[in-house]
Amino acid sequence: MRSLRFTAEPSATASTGGDVSDVLGLPASASDTNPAPLMFDVIIAGCGPTGAMLAAELRLHDVRVLVLEKETEPASFVRIVGLHIRSLELMAMRGLLERIRERGRRRPAGAYFAGIDKPAPAGLDSAYAYLLGIPQPVIVHLLEEHAIELGAQVRRGSAVTAFQQDDGGVTVELVDGEQLRTRYLVGCDGARSTVRKLLGVGFPGEPSRNDTLMGEVEVGVPPEEIAARMTEIRDTYKRWWLRPFGERIYSVVVPAAGVSDRAQPPTLEEFRQQLRAIAGTDFGVHSPRWLSRFGDATRLAERYRVGRVLLAGDAAHIHPPIGGQGLNLGVQDAFNLGWKLAAQVRGWAPETLLDTYQAERRPVAEDVLDNTRAQTELLSSEPGPQAVRRLLTELMDFDEVNHYLIEKITAIGVRYDFGAGPELLGRRLPDIDVKQGHLYGLLHRGRGLLLDRTERLTVGGWSDRVDHLADPTAALDVPCVLLRPDGHVAWIGDDQQDLDDHLFRWFGTPD
Ligand SMILES: Cc1cc2nc3c(=O)[nH]c(=O)nc-3n(C[C@H](O)[C@H](O)[C@H](O)COP(=O)(O)OP(=O)(O)OC[C@H]3O[C@@H](n4cnc5c(N)ncnc54)[C@H](O)[C@@H]3O)c2cc1C
Repeated sequence: MRSLRFTAEPSATASTGGDVSDVLGLPASASDTNPAPLMFDVIIAGCGPTGAMLAAELRLHDVRVLVLEKETEPASFVRIVGLHIRSLELMAMRGLLERIRERGRRRPAGAYFAGIDKPAPAGLDSAYAYLLGIPQPVIVHLLEEHAIELGAQVRRGSAVTAFQQDDGGVTVELVDGEQLRTRYLVGCDGARSTVRKLLGVGFPGEPSRNDTLMGEVEVGVPPEEIAARMTEIRDTYKRWWLRPFGERIYSVVVPAAGVSDRAQPPTLEEFRQQLRAIAGTDFGVHSPRWLSRFGDATRLAERYRVGRVLLAGDAAHIHPPIGGQGLNLGVQDAFNLGWKLAAQVRGWAPETLLDTYQAERRPVAEDVLDNTRAQTELLSSEPGPQAVRRLLTELMDFDEVNHYLIEKITAIGVRYDFGAGPELLGRRLPDIDVKQGHLYGLLHRGRGLLLDRTERLTVGGWSDRVDHLADPTAALDVPCVLLRPDGHVAWIGDDQQDLDDHLFRWFGTPD
């Protein structure tokens, strides 16, 4: 049996990018010589938001999933992240939104592009046109809980350290030397992804130029003094704040003195020095709850798939947190990949379906990287970028400009390239009214859906993977749409033969 081994010290073959097509092209009998039985269909490295969401999506299709998480305990820092409109829609599509909403705080959807203070434009085409602020550990916990409820296994304290793929599967090695065999491995193991590094997949882009310190502290001066000082200098220095966050606690963000090893947590003294440098006082900060630092590196993986190993979330793309898009992007990667990988495992995936994951999601990440580059420039205190910021602030008074930017940040403007067709083709369908209530209520099981206003079409032999709702009252201005499990419109029309061709394209050979 020929195979490629990927370890902390990759072999020459692996480090060139690990193109395994020659290995995967071996006759099927080669896999029979591997003594290890396939224990899992998919192993996911990393139980962050991306890994947990992917595990849940795979379980909707009965895929045997194991999530391996390096850390024994959930993260200690309580970073508040914003779930934007498209992510809220995804949660609604899986019946998770109520649970998540209970733990978060609704905020207006606008003012997230470079923090330019403009309200969201009227008429945003979504039933969920707001931002939900929620602590990252809470959203990770809720997604993990959901995945476990659906039957995923999660093992903590189990870092992936090496793997070896061949034409029959992937042998994954854990930190304690244990080996597990799976059909597919997905690296959802964050920015410093071991899986990506072991694969030898390039991660080009720009290194961090500015680090930022972030934490929660107590303060030694009255709140009015802090508020007054913030108002005074926030116009010039946009990259800092000191805001009340619960009883006696303040959230603090301040630029670091330089770029340093992110694995090293910052000290309280660094916060004090940097506050003094910007505000002329350290506000008597003391008793930190947690302190951390983050950078503004911008990088994109050259490939999202090498044979049986895939990458998703921060393992595939990183960018500055401005606009709050990273977690959203990762969860949306998982939503795009889940049903495709499940189809591959279940054996009905059309030949190129799994490769559409990279074809669709990498351009979306490229766009997010670019918009965060632009936003970062707009935060600069240099006169040039400040002038551009003033100009953009004026331009955002035009509804179309404001609309365009908010659709970018919230990902409701994403349109996958499914070929020529009406404007709706490739876009997500909002949660429209249908005779049973709301469309998204019909998508909880992660299956395709034919929404049929003509009442004369059928999903025929695809009914094991595609539902059919005949509803002449559906709030659509086209006769019928075929929705993929991720809610994107894969076909529009009223002709059965054309529909069958598209069912074949997305859902494979009928049963
Ligand atoms: C200050 C700040 C604010 C942010 N605000 C927002 C926001 O408002 N909205 C937003 O969308 N995004 C935001 N982000 C970005 C967001 O936090 C990340 O994009 C998100 O955490 C990525 O999720 P992930 O699951 O891909 O990776 P991670 O969250 O990094 O999870 C990866 C997991 O893999 C585990 N792991 C690592 N190596 C291994 C291994 N070898 N084996 C097994 N497990 C492993 C890690 O322990 C971790 O649990 C912010 C980021 C920062 C720094």
